[in-house]
Amino acid sequence: MNPVVVVGAGPVGLSAALALRGHGLDVTLLEADPKGRERPGSRALFVHRETLGLLDGMCPGLAAEITSYGRTWHTRRTLYRGREVYSRTFPPPTGAPPFTSLRQVDTERFLRAACERTGVAFEWDARVAGVRAAVDGVTLSCEDGREWRAGHVVAADGARSAVRRELGIAMEGVHGEGFHVVVDVADVPGAELPLERVFHYEHPGVGGRSVMRVPFTGGFQVDLQCHDDDTREAYGTEEAVRRWLPAVVGDGYADRILWVSTYRFLRKVAASFTDPHRRVLLVGEAAHLFPPFGARGMNSGIADAAAAAEAIAAGTYQAVEGFAEVRRAAGLYNSAAAGIALEHLRPQRRSVRLRQRAAAALAPVLPSCGSWLEHAPYGPRGGAPAVAGRKY
Ligand SMILES: Cc1cc2nc3c(=O)[nH]c(=O)nc-3n(C[C@H](O)[C@H](O)[C@H](O)COP(=O)(O)OP(=O)(O)OC[C@H]3O[C@@H](n4cnc5c(N)ncnc54)[C@H](O)[C@@H]3O)c2cc1C
Repeated sequence: MNPVVVVGAGPVGLSAALALRGHGLDVTLLEADPKGRERPGSRALFVHRETLGLLDGMCPGLAAEITSYGRTWHTRRTLYRGREVYSRTFPPPTGAPPFTSLRQVDTERFLRAACERTGVAFEWDARVAGVRAAVDGVTLSCEDGREWRAGHVVAADGARSAVRRELGIAMEGVHGEGFHVVVDVADVPGAELPLERVFHYEHPGVGGRSVMRVPFTGGFQVDLQCHDDDTREAYGTEEAVRRWLPAVVGDGYADRILWVSTYRFLRKVAASFTDPHRRVLLVGEAAHLFPPFGARGMNSGIADAAAAAEAIAAGTYQAVEGFAEVRRAAGLYNSAAAGIALEHLRPQRRSVRLRQRAAAALAPVLPSCGSWLEHAPYGPRGGAPAVAGRKY
């Protein structure tokens, strides 16, 4: 019997495996994809300071590796219909950076190398299809007929989690209207855009849609908030992006598009983060789905992973139960926070739009209005320590 099997080698499963090794436990990681797979796009860019702290706890030195590769900017700007309403440049921090920004595929590269260094046993081409949890352990069966027995299983198999499905655990929540378009663009070497995050409300160059530009190492991500009745053909294909991108970032980038994807807004949290025997622990997108603004998805998934490893190392029914309660509470908090952000980003009520317009008009004389416009798209900061115990 394996002490622990982790299912899924995304950023959360890799973090869980690393954390378990940090507790001195043997870990086998089952991944459906082949070893040489290529993962697409920038996806989750931000790795927050608290997450870097958790990763360093799992594998000392990992945070420095990741931050020395990622990018941190000190300038944040917000515009409203072409006019700047907020701009601030912060002094570089003396200690750890508040965040670092790199493509998810690069974060995964660092995590995977750390897992390999610390002795995680990888099984590629291992798609889990069946789960039997019992009082004394878990049996996992793969599509190809292979079976694994484990004392505990960490389910990090993503949004369509087979483990969650097999346990009959429902996802509860809502899905919003519409979608946004995510585009990765490579820098023009020697002529990089300023190292700053820019959010533009109702950009006049894209028919009043809001748009954000976020740098990462080697390029930047552009997020376009589509109107509810927009079609993918009009905004979300590479051909469509070539048409609207110059209005947002200027000429010269249409041929530098690396990846285009559309993203729908789901806010869902699993009804339980564990099975009745407290042998399976759900983490990351297997347990919760949030809209990306506020960078809660991967960051909170890594916090789940750290908490899951701690509970398994403690080895008791009560520890796993505690993990499930605390991390589900954090998931519900994050889901609510993401809902607040979404209501600001994609206002469904006229009163919200009017408030934004009034704040933009007042921003030159009332800096607090500009500051509100700057911060609101990401939702409330921080967490609910009393229930969640962690920031995300
Ligand atoms: C198109 C797109 C754009 C995104 N954009 C952003 C963004 O801008 N900002 C942001 O914060 N987040 C974004 N996200 C979300 C972010 O990518 C996720 O939060 C993050 O990947 C979650 O990590 P995870 O490890 O929980 O799941 P995943 O990354 O989904 O990893 C799950 C792993 O499990 C494996 N697996 C699945 N089923 C099985 C099985 N049955 N057996 C074995 N292995 C299995 C998969 O192959 C995969 O390797 C985006 C996601 C997508 C898809």
